[in-house]
Amino acid sequence: MDIKIALVPGDGIGPDIVSEAVRVLDRVASKFGHSISYKEIDAGGISIDRYGMPLTEDALENAKASDAVLLGAVGGPKWDSLPGAKRPEKALLGLRSGLGLFCNFRPAVIYPELAGASPLKDSVIKQGVDLLVVRELTGGIYFGERGRSDDGEEAYDTMRYSRSEILRIAKKAFEAARIRRKRVTLVDKANVLESSRLWRETVSELAASYSDVTLDFMYVDNAAMQLVRNPAHFDVLLTENMFGDILSDEASMITGSIGMLSSASLREDSFGMYEPIHGSAPDIAGKDIANPIATILSAASMLRYSFSLEKEAVSIENAVKSALSDGIRTRDIATEGEKCVGTKECGKEIEERI
Ligand code: NAD
Repeated sequence: MDIKIALVPGDGIGPDIVSEAVRVLDRVASKFGHSISYKEIDAGGISIDRYGMPLTEDALENAKASDAVLLGAVGGPKWDSLPGAKRPEKALLGLRSGLGLFCNFRPAVIYPELAGASPLKDSVIKQGVDLLVVRELTGGIYFGERGRSDDGEEAYDTMRYSRSEILRIAKKAFEAARIRRKRVTLVDKANVLESSRLWRETVSELAASYSDVTLDFMYVDNAAMQLVRNPAHFDVLLTENMFGDILSDEASMITGSIGMLSSASLREDSFGMYEPIHGSAPDIAGKDIANPIATILSAASMLRYSFSLEKEAVSIENAVKSALSDGIRTRDIATEGEKCVGTKECGKEIEERI
């Protein structure tokens, strides 16, 4: 397969970790007989320094012309005093909306080797934590009508969804469940909210076309509790924008290792933008100590969701697991006294295990 990737290294540790993901992708390409080409794009602080804005029209066009985007992270103290619209983070919003990405996938996995980093009890972790939060990104209360009364004493925000918005993301969740453990849990507040009742109705109808996938329902307050009490219940957790915002952060924190978690933002076709969930970690930028695994796993998700290259994606995930079980640790995931490797060495160890 010929694959064109737009690379957005960004700021801080972004360039360090993206180059390790490229190293691993290149090995996968040569092993499985694919050709991958890269176009580097400036976004975030680096684009502000070069062009005076976080994302240029040209950068967005280059991203659009690619088959998928792999992003490091943007931002840093150098640009913190800029007003909102000019800040590096605007590049992320510009890319997400400019590319029409309405669906966010956030996997949360606890690797047995790193179980000590999780705040959960051993007895809970032993049941296995491997779930995927599928969050709607462009609708709901964050985008609904909002306002204040004339005297400023009242305010309102509106949660609004259409059947078609629900349907397109629910399809993504069912498709993902099909290549996982075949269970979708729709998380909502259908005992109170009319929009949640439309979600239940629409998702239940769609479930008939996915008879190999089990659908169950959970209220959001219960889901927040079950994520820490019984996370093994979840395979794919499907939910609207605000609930997903909160639950995906909760799900990532139960793993305890921010340097390990990837995310994908998708649209209806196979196009997607893939990135680690962590930020640009300016405190450790350029020191060869950042953990590149979240970005490497983002590259695996890219192969899976944008190119349906399941074998290749699994080869990366298995290489990561094997490196971890052989004791390869960057500083952030090492326990006291354990020997650590740098960013580059960690990337090399994973590459060699493909
Ligand atoms: P951060 O995720 O960058 O860092 C939080 C802590 O985690 C730091 O101690 C950092 O050293 C550590 N850390 C993060 N990633 C790591 C990795 N791969 N390996 C080892 N340690 C890692 O969050 P922050 O400090 O709140 O934000 C720093 C900058 O990043 C800010 O400018 C913020 O706006 C930006 N940010 C960008 C994104 C993004 O690009 N998607 C997301 C969040 C924050």
